[in-house]
Amino acid sequence: MFLIIRKREPLRQSPSRKSKSTSQTIYQISIYSSRAVLNRLLTMEEKSSSKTQGKAIRCKAAVCRKPGEALVIEEIMVAPPMPGEVRVRIICTSLCHSDITFWKMKDPPAIFPTIFGHEAVGVVESVGEDVDEVSEGDVVIPTFMSVCGECADCISKKSNLCSKYPFKICPWMPRYETSRFTDLKGQVLYHFIFVSSFSEYTVVDVCNVTKIDPAVPPNRACLLSCGISTGFGAAWKTAEVEKGSTVAIFGLGSIGLAVAEGARLCGAARIIGVDINPNKFEFGKKFGVTDFVNAANCGSKSVSQVINEMSGGGADYCFECVGLASLVHEAYACCRKGWGKTIVVGVDKPGSKLSLSSFEVLHSGKKLMGSLFGGLKAKTDIPILLARYMNKELQLDEFVTHELQFEDINKAFDLLIEGECLRCVIWMQK
Ligand SMILES: [Zn+2]
Ligand SMILES: [Zn+2]
Repeated sequence: MFLIIRKREPLRQSPSRKSKSTSQTIYQISIYSSRAVLNRLLTMEEKSSSKTQGKAIRCKAAVCRKPGEALVIEEIMVAPPMPGEVRVRIICTSLCHSDITFWKMKDPPAIFPTIFGHEAVGVVESVGEDVDEVSEGDVVIPTFMSVCGECADCISKKSNLCSKYPFKICPWMPRYETSRFTDLKGQVLYHFIFVSSFSEYTVVDVCNVTKIDPAVPPNRACLLSCGISTGFGAAWKTAEVEKGSTVAIFGLGSIGLAVAEGARLCGAARIIGVDINPNKFEFGKKFGVTDFVNAANCGSKSVSQVINEMSGGGADYCFECVGLASLVHEAYACCRKGWGKTIVVGVDKPGSKLSLSSFEVLHSGKKLMGSLFGGLKAKTDIPILLARYMNKELQLDEFVTHELQFEDINKAFDLLIEGECLRCVIWMQK
């Protein structure tokens, strides 16, 4: 069982308009069985797909026409999938900070009008030619990272950076560089990082979908599409955190907390969380954070000095989850000489530079690593994470602080911007 929370007050139109605090909001709580909801949605799919296969579908999408403007739910046309593509009916989507980063962005690579959203789960409505990996009715998670399964990177265990369809900020489908979305006037609507899940239907390349166990509640499965996988994978796959080790995490947002969850399940003995908001420590404790450093309250010492003292020479693994080059320097400065690893998970502004002393790099023997999508290969690793969730090892429920209906999508932007939420799940249909 899980909760769907619906707000009683009228729909707010502008995510930039200042809202009442959430504590003043009255929520109406309805309880549904996740299995019943999913079964109903799957039955609807069976009824509808034979009528829609090969044809454009008219449906609702939350379109963003200008940077920073409220999304507007309007009717759009979604073209059928081309060869190698899959059309998916979205069940749940959740909002990630990258959606907000690009929603605010006035210059390229941001491009408008567009359909944001890249954390989701849905049901395959139809497939294009040459697609045999998934078929109508399969439950899938779309991801911004591709797995072609054939290139040197996909074949290697050492990389998750597919070189046939590399990740890029691109307004098109990866294979054809065209859009499948138009508005009712025929104007092209752009895709967002190969997913565009703020639409009842979307088209995704088969290299960007992972078939999952339909028993996983959709309002949990969608979290594995981006943020939680990124944090968890950074600890599990990129850093390969060892049992008994000490971990420092810079930034206790949902990505940092997912790093903590990954480190906890890898058996880390000590997990030091760094943030400027002490409330984050309370969240952090649920995910295994054992110590808290308030970066705004270190007196004359730097955060790295404090952590070096606490850990007796530095943490074995340091994760930068904020997206600031200056924090990467701090993380590197407090990771253990000889074997310490610093992992860059946060996304800084384009063009931000790191400046390290080559003498220090040589003499310290530390490793500096980047982790895109947590080093995970979606098609093989997402099912492992979901199985661990179903096995009650991996915590996902604790990340979902809010659930809304699609028509309230702008409220999700408010909640994430105000820092009141870790993950807000949006249900596309009631
Ligand atoms: Zn590949
Ligand atoms: Zn994301």
